[in-house]
Amino acid sequence: LEPAYQFMVRVRAPGGVATPEQWLTMDRLAHEYGNGTLKLTTRQAFQMHGILKWNMKKSIKEINDALMDTLAACGDVNRNVMSNPNPYQSDIHGEVYEWARKLSDYLSPRTRAYHEIWLDEEKVVDTQSDEETEPMYGKYYLPRKFKIGMAIPPSNDVDVYSQDLGFIAIIENGELKGFNVAVGGGMGMTHGDKNTYPQLARVIGFCTPNQVLDVAEKIITIQRDYGNRSVRKYARFKYTIDARGLDWLIQELSERLGWVLEEERAFSFDHNGDRYGWVKGANNKWHLTLFIQNGRVADSEGYPLMTGLREIAKVHTGDFRLSANQNLVICNVTSQKKRKINQLVEQYGLTDGKHYSALRRSSMACVALPTCGLAMAESERYLPTLITKLEGVIEESGLRDEEIVIRMAGCPNGCSRAALGEIGFIGKAPGKYNLYLGAGFAGQRLSKMYRENIGEEEILETLKPIISDYAKQRIHGEHFGDYVIRAGYIKEVRSGTDFHE
Ligand code: SF4
Repeated sequence: LEPAYQFMVRVRAPGGVATPEQWLTMDRLAHEYGNGTLKLTTRQAFQMHGILKWNMKKSIKEINDALMDTLAACGDVNRNVMSNPNPYQSDIHGEVYEWARKLSDYLSPRTRAYHEIWLDEEKVVDTQSDEETEPMYGKYYLPRKFKIGMAIPPSNDVDVYSQDLGFIAIIENGELKGFNVAVGGGMGMTHGDKNTYPQLARVIGFCTPNQVLDVAEKIITIQRDYGNRSVRKYARFKYTIDARGLDWLIQELSERLGWVLEEERAFSFDHNGDRYGWVKGANNKWHLTLFIQNGRVADSEGYPLMTGLREIAKVHTGDFRLSANQNLVICNVTSQKKRKINQLVEQYGLTDGKHYSALRRSSMACVALPTCGLAMAESERYLPTLITKLEGVIEESGLRDEEIVIRMAGCPNGCSRAALGEIGFIGKAPGKYNLYLGAGFAGQRLSKMYRENIGEEEILETLKPIISDYAKQRIHGEHFGDYVIRAGYIKEVRSGTDFHE
């Protein structure tokens, strides 16, 4: 007899795309083997919690039968490649999604061990060298996980600056010309260790679409060869770059590529949150972005979200797309099907979030307690309550429709990218958080710690007057994160290396 150990399974979905059949499979597996809910993650993947050890193999096999996998959803390899979730909004989105998918395939580990262990594939006697088995990763894989995201301006919904490697689509005269390449972002840090910090990726040049795979591969091999393998908490690519300098990186990359990146091209982002409701795409099909609070798909009293999405999946002929903000886009709905989907949306009370405050619609929390073993404080289960307590001052101040990006994480690992929230909370202990302010609305600037280790009462006492001042004193179009810097509440952070100063 052994204890009923339970696990979390993360299912990779490049660009967050799932067919209705795959959605139905995830829904069924969550009920058969998991805790009856699904979590849509901040990296556009699915998470199922509460899977008992003896059900692990069965669930992974069934996920594979549905043409999805859990390979490289974790571990010291390239993770789920993110991209804007609505590729049919324009032809460009479709092209960028295809590059995200190609990148994901190209950078997947080649090992057959996954298939042998989880899918009962016959073990073949390994006569290949490590270099042949994993030509890019080699025998020891990477020093740490590696994250890639592709953004399409003006939307920075994938938080491209939080990625180890970001590609920013450059569109000229309606054509995808290529990508600006950004390197060295990452959100994680360790409380009390100032040598660890969140950092933003920096743009180092431009490449054409056909050069994307080559650039990604060479950058990954640089991190493979130079990343810190002695101290794990200093092993992310951002520290490799910050220790050696951006010029070193550019030089090393040029040598490995055998050519030089072009000058970066002009672009601009204006938001990192999702845009809710129906939009008509370039292909004359419709797309509906639903608000899924903190990505938790579950049925609760009076809100049968999971059942409603299941019923939609049964009739939907397009696909589902998980957004980087944990929301869900029902994509490629024909005009004929739109009425039926709308009827189901209404019947099950699903929402595009428009009746919520913009603060809630702009919120994001990681899983944290009770299922994340690293959590120091609540996140997903607490942020909605805290927002309710802030909504009074939001309403009184006339800020109901003002998007303020608010994020919470249960520990400094950064899964919900809280250091990019205009208001950010990072858990320290049960009921206690560090409060951060001043990040950029489009994900272009980090926040800074404003108060340390405070509980709910102090959070509300601190934030309410600042929100109220913002309403009275902001200049036209000024975002909350910019205001708190202009008003002198907090200093602007120009680089992650200044984050703790
Ligand atoms: Fe990630 Fe930490 Fe949240 Fe766990 S508690 S999900 S590790 S940020």
